[in-house]
Amino acid sequence: MVKIDIKTPSKSYSVYIGNNVLDSLSLHLQSTHYTKLLIITDETVGKLHLEELQSAIPQSYETFIYVVPPGEKAKQFAIYEASLSFALEKGLDRKSCIIALGGGSVGDLAGFVAATYMRGIPFIQVPTTILAHDSAVGGKTGINHPLGKNMIGSFHQPEAVIYQTEFLKTLPQSEIRSGFAEAVKHALIADVSLLEFLMSNVIDLHSIKDEHLIYFLQRGIEIKANIVSQDERESGIRAFLNFGHTLGHVIESSAGYGKVSHGEAVMTGMIYALYLSKEVLDLEFNITEFELWIKKLGYSLEIPDGFDFNNAFTSMTRDKKSYSNQPRFVLLDKVGEPLVKELDKELLEKVYTTFLS
Ligand code: NAD
Ligand code: ZN
Repeated sequence: MVKIDIKTPSKSYSVYIGNNVLDSLSLHLQSTHYTKLLIITDETVGKLHLEELQSAIPQSYETFIYVVPPGEKAKQFAIYEASLSFALEKGLDRKSCIIALGGGSVGDLAGFVAATYMRGIPFIQVPTTILAHDSAVGGKTGINHPLGKNMIGSFHQPEAVIYQTEFLKTLPQSEIRSGFAEAVKHALIADVSLLEFLMSNVIDLHSIKDEHLIYFLQRGIEIKANIVSQDERESGIRAFLNFGHTLGHVIESSAGYGKVSHGEAVMTGMIYALYLSKEVLDLEFNITEFELWIKKLGYSLEIPDGFDFNNAFTSMTRDKKSYSNQPRFVLLDKVGEPLVKELDKELLEKVYTTFLS
């Protein structure tokens, strides 16, 4: 088992990662006397892993379960409202605790319910996807608005993160690929040796060894936590976590949400950001070798049919992370040394046409 202690200006908490870390949940619940527990999970994860989670909860606890639809559907206003109603009906109070069992969607929803129920109650993350190594730490919680993804939300840190890696064994390949892209992102922006580790040890996403999985989840969380602890509210270096996301978001939306996974789109966005870094900052990095590895892992790196560079440029400029009328990109001076730059259309189009289209 790996334990990471995370300190943020607003809270300190621990992340436990391993094959059997539900014991740590039991211990936490025994030592902290919450009045009631509410487990929020989705239909898919609930069927697979709820029973095992429940077996780790001390008998003395009155526990309620609320099941939401899987994926982004969990992050709708109506589901948020229904979750709050359920919590009120069951009499949760300010000393009750919410447990999020699921991927980033459940974590974001349950975290936001916890952040806003009675002005904020404790919550525990039990992430079940690889991507959730990214979403379970950092304290961002929220739901979607019909006019934009993650537009309604709050910062609310968990009491603990219990990362039972056994739960990841049931993930479909597409979800593994989506989540692994964020692990690669963490390596590219912060840790060249992690990148080398990944490139030499992860050659097939069907068969990642437990010890390798635990290691890169741990490093990914440490990297994210380190950035977030310096910039909890995203006024500065937290922007580095958007590496690959400027183009990635546009690919995701021009394909139609759900058609290309977030991670697949971000992977293509990262390749673009690498070529931009080579062009603008003379980044010394073998992008061809990197691309070859990524393709062997099953990433198609395709640009979707509905994609148009001019429209993409407009969307990238409008992205909430842009301050002027030029899109802001996270680039790499070296692997592990990111910086933010605003880039003009001509350069962006040239690199896009040369390397991606
Ligand atoms: P998810 O929660 O949407 O889950 C994806 C699918 O996998 C769902 O159908 C789910 O039921 C299924 N699933 C989850 N765990 C499983 C398991 N162990 N076995 C089998 N199936 C399983 O996906 P995600 O990719 O983890 O999260 C995506 C969400 O995370 C997005 O809404 C994104 O906005 C959010 N996010 C938040 C942050 C943050 O900082 N808060 C960071 C990154 C992403
Ligand atoms: Zn992402």
